[in-house]
Order: sequence, then structure tokens, then C-alpha cells
Amino acid sequence: MTALKKDVVVVGLGSMGSMALWQLAKRGVDVLGIEQFGRVHTNGAYAGESRLFRVAAKEGQVFTPALLRSRELWQELGAAYGQDILLPVGALHLAPEDHPDLQSTLRSIKQFDLPHEILDPAQMRKRYPQFYVEAGDVGVLDTLGGAMRSELGVFAATDQAVAHGAEVRYETVVSAIEPGNDGVRIVTADGDVLAQRVVVGAGPFTTRLLPELADLVKVVTYNLIWFMPRHIDMFTPDRFPGFMRDLHGVHAFGIPTLDGYSVKAVPNMDHPMVDDWDDKSTTLTRDQLVWAGEQIQKMVPDLIPAASRWSVHGESFTANKMPIIDTIADGAIVVATALSGNGYKFAPVWGEMLADLVTTGQAKFAEQAFTVDGHR
Ligand SMILES: Cc1cc2nc3c(=O)[nH]c(=O)nc-3n(C[C@H](O)[C@H](O)[C@H](O)COP(=O)(O)OP(=O)(O)OC[C@H]3O[C@@H](n4cnc5c(N)ncnc54)[C@H](O)[C@@H]3O)c2cc1C
Repeated sequence: MTALKKDVVVVGLGSMGSMALWQLAKRGVDVLGIEQFGRVHTNGAYAGESRLFRVAAKEGQVFTPALLRSRELWQELGAAYGQDILLPVGALHLAPEDHPDLQSTLRSIKQFDLPHEILDPAQMRKRYPQFYVEAGDVGVLDTLGGAMRSELGVFAATDQAVAHGAEVRYETVVSAIEPGNDGVRIVTADGDVLAQRVVVGAGPFTTRLLPELADLVKVVTYNLIWFMPRHIDMFTPDRFPGFMRDLHGVHAFGIPTLDGYSVKAVPNMDHPMVDDWDDKSTTLTRDQLVWAGEQIQKMVPDLIPAASRWSVHGESFTANKMPIIDTIADGAIVVATALSGNGYKFAPVWGEMLADLVTTGQAKFAEQAFTVDGHR
């Protein structure tokens, strides 16, 4: 069978892949996206209703300029699609004043002169009575932050990519990516595709296709949990921000109610490493759920400490939690992986970066720390 020829193929239409497809299609590139599951699905690192958006990055000041660009792109995508993907509800970080992550958030705010509010315990209790607040806590509100509807973002990006001429194939597993003299061969059960360049956005499945990254990229399971409040009207997006809370050594994050009856509120647990993705656990134990309920009720007392739903997802990590965004195979393959629990907020800007790397070999927010060599 002769292979179909395309200029660019994007493998994986999740967070990174859908955005790369959108950006490439907008530039008029002849591009095909291939996704192993459906248009949206629960196997992606993006699944689970929502993600937290922040520009005041606690992860390091290197990220804030990219996040400001990402915010513009989220708004552009929402406007083009006709629905808000990023809800501008703010992102509150509530923690003891000397907490290192809170201090890092404040450094990002200072360095980039970001709009923000700082709330002492009395102001916190008045403004956000939903939270339990201790003396010595500080609330830092990143007013450009918010909550993102994550499946909608992926859906909208592929929708816009198709509107700009991209082709898409779903329910098609790419089993191999083979760079050669005549281009890169993308192998699928429905026939091969030959492309000049390939973007790999395969998330937690990346090392199946690029085993040369296996020593750098580890797959872990990450969970989400929702709790029902006694007073749902206290948790609507107009009254309740996206939040991170550090209390007594436990970190948690949450999102205002989007389903109208429950609030996503997730205390950080161990993230078990998974060798074979198909063997992953897809649920939480009774003990984990009880522990999570206890932590969350201490932090947000109106939440009833019985989880109303939960889900488990895969995510890829590097040792230092910096992403891998780089070109390999002499520029024939461009990859974004190991977003390390933090990638959704960056999805459109990393998509733009992938498109830049494909079309020009360079990108504004490229960093040596993101390269494969930078991780070795
Ligand atoms: C539970 C959880 C909570 C999170 N919370 C936040 C948050 O609040 N804020 C934030 O910014 N980030 C958050 N993150 C991180 C963020 O969601 C991820 O970093 C991001 O979604 C990763 O995107 P990705 O494109 O690498 O993977 P994915 O979005 O999973 O996309 C990969 C896609 O590739 C497809 N694919 C894989 N292999 C193949 C193949 N062989 N053939 C065809 N298709 C293939 C997959 O099916 C999938 O659709 C969270 C992650 C998790 C798991």
C-alpha cells in the first residue's frame, strides 16, 4: 500500500497535540492529526472536567511570560469557538506566609508586576469564608488566574484546526514513528503516512513511541476528587476562585463548582509510578478517600467529607519537573511530553511553540532546560 503523504502529522490529539494542530492549521500547513481514542476521552492527562490556571507560577519565574501568552491564546480560542474555556475566576494561593511555594508565587508577581491581591487572615475570612484560615496564613490572589474546562479546550482546538483545514483521524493507534531518508513514516493499522515532520504529543504514552526518552520520562497516576458542599451557592464561579491550599504539610487544589452540585478539591497524595500503562489502577482505595475527605474538610469546612466522585489519570514526569519540548531525529520529530502535572495551563503556548519548531526550527519560549540534552 502506498503511504499517504502529508507535510506534518501530529500524533496524539490531547492537550499538546490538539493545540499544535490548531496552530499549524492556522498557518496553512498541510497537517493530519491522529488520535488513538475519540475526539475527547477519559484516558488523557487532560480528562476530568477542569484544570487550574495561574500566571504567577510557583514552579519558577521562567514560566510566567509563557503563561501570559498562553492566557491570550486561551481567550482567542474561546472567542473563536464561542464558549469560555478559561473562566477568569482568579487563582488563590492560601498558605503560611513562609511557605516556599507561596514565596515563589510572590516572586513571580513581583518580577513581572502581575496584578494581584494579598489578603491577611481577617481579610481572607471576610472575603472567602469558605476557607479555614489560621493566624500566619496569607492569601495571594493571582487575578489573571482561573479555572479551565479541559475537555472543552481540547475539543475546541481540534474544532478550530479542522475549520482551518486540518485533517483528523480518530480511533487510530500509531504503532511506530520511523524517520528515514524520504521523511518520517507513521505506522498505523489503517495504513502508513509519510510526513516531512511529526509532532508527538502522546502524553503518558510517549515512551511507547519514543523509547529513547524512557530514561527521562516516568508515568504516574494522578487523581481527582469532588466533594459536595452543604451550601453550593458559596462555591459558584462568581464567588469562589480556583485555589491552592497548603495546611499542616498537606497541599491541595480546587476549582469552583462547574457541575452545579459538587466542588473539585484534591489533596496531594503519593503518585504511584506505572510501568505498563494498561495495568494502572483506575480507582482510589477506601483509605485514600477517607484521608482525602478528612484533609479537605479541615481546609474547606463546608465540604462534606465523603467524595461524590473521583477519577484516576496518567501523567508523565521528568525528575526535575521541567517539561521536554524539543526536536529530535535531526528536526524530523518535535516532541512535547512530561508536562509534570502542570501542563494544561500551557497547552496553547506550548502548541504554538511546537508549531514554531516545526515551521522555523526556533521558538520564543524555548529553553535549554526543556531540551532532551538539558535533562541529561
Ligand atoms: C489529575 C490531573 C490534574 C492536573 N491538574 C492540572 C492543573 O490543575 N493545571 C494544569 O495546568 N495542569 C494540570 N495537570 C497536567 C496537565 O493536565 C497535563 O500536563 C497535560 O494534560 C498533558 O498533556 P499531554 O498532551 O502531554 O497529554 P494528553 O492530554 O494525555 O494527550 C495525549 C494524547 O495522545 C494520544 N495518544 C497517545 N499515544 C497515541 C498513539 N500511539 N496513537 C495515537 N494517539 C495517541 C492519547 O490518547 C491522548 O489523547 C493535571 C494532570 C492530571 C493528570
